[in-house]
Amino acid sequence: MSFYDGLVKPRQLPRRWVRFTETYPLFPNAFAIAGLVWICFLLAPIINGAEKHGHSEVVETISMLSGSQTVVDKANSLREVYHSWFPAEVRNFIALLYSNLALYLVVPFLLLLECLFPCKPSQPLIGKGLLQDSIWYIALLSLQVLIFFPLSQLFQEHLSFLTISAAATWPVYVQITAAILVAEFLIWCNHFIRHKIHTLWLFHAIHHSQEELNVFTDDRGHFIDELVGSLFTFIPFFVFQVSDVYAIMVIGIYMPIHNRFIHTNIKINLGWLGWIFTSPQFHRVHHSCEPEHIDKNFGVHLSIFDHLFGTACKSRNVYPATGIEDPQFPREQNIRLRQLPGNMIKQTIYPFLQLFEQLQASRPVHFFRARFFSRRNGNIKS
Ligand SMILES: [Zn+2]
Ligand SMILES: [Zn+2]
Repeated sequence: MSFYDGLVKPRQLPRRWVRFTETYPLFPNAFAIAGLVWICFLLAPIINGAEKHGHSEVVETISMLSGSQTVVDKANSLREVYHSWFPAEVRNFIALLYSNLALYLVVPFLLLLECLFPCKPSQPLIGKGLLQDSIWYIALLSLQVLIFFPLSQLFQEHLSFLTISAAATWPVYVQITAAILVAEFLIWCNHFIRHKIHTLWLFHAIHHSQEELNVFTDDRGHFIDELVGSLFTFIPFFVFQVSDVYAIMVIGIYMPIHNRFIHTNIKINLGWLGWIFTSPQFHRVHHSCEPEHIDKNFGVHLSIFDHLFGTACKSRNVYPATGIEDPQFPREQNIRLRQLPGNMIKQTIYPFLQLFEQLQASRPVHFFRARFFSRRNGNIKS
């Protein structure tokens, strides 16, 4: 048996443990919440310190952790060599990998939750689904370097008229709450539109195609979909003048952790907190391939807008199978490990091929028809 086979073997949990977690759902919920809150608190001062010290964050973090001047001097001279050798794009990519500290700490904890409270025990801990999504993660980092950095600069330079000047005097927690609520509302609307407009759905369907939800599924997103979806996250933080340190804490720590948490293969619905925040159960229903769950649970971090607008699934104890019903889609489950990078490229090209086929087959009026009507006509499967 190879090392990989060991990782992919389905887990067999003792029956008494399964019965215990099902009888006392408060236990898995409390365990998960306590762990995630602890990780957030652990990361906050590191990000805070790094942000204050600007571009030399790696050296400053080393200084913070080691406290030795010799180590800091050596790190400084290494930094000079590093800057002279690598172009800005490569350094930005490495900086992003480094700043994803949240990811490195949270992934082992979420994998532990998958071991203890699996929703689908037959799913491997590190299967082809996770490996395919981790390739998407690397691709997304490159995309952030090439597109999101210049884009955020563009926003800062040209969207100052959107800033609410009175917000500068508000207490920090009011600024953050207002920014999160507005951002979540915009994300909800934008997510709703990406489901209803057929052209946008073709790109968003890549994210929905995962049959083995895992800690990296949040990164499985077509670059067109990511571009449309991410624009609204940081604008409200800019509008309400949330300081960089707090904005980075929310956008850089809390949101990525929550995004990974809701995509994990765990049987947790957050109890009464689920009426405010999204949970793995809530988001699994959004990814469901069952007809009764289509276009439900659009919220990404907060579930309140779905409860408000009537798009929330009533049942909070269902854990359906996920994926899309498209037999042509280049799935990763039936291919070899070495074919995964190439398959990611196939998945990226796939919506363009669908669009091309439809452009040839139908008139432009059909091309832009809402997904709801198209599905009713029976020509969309998802
Ligand atoms: Zn969706
Ligand atoms: Zn998702």
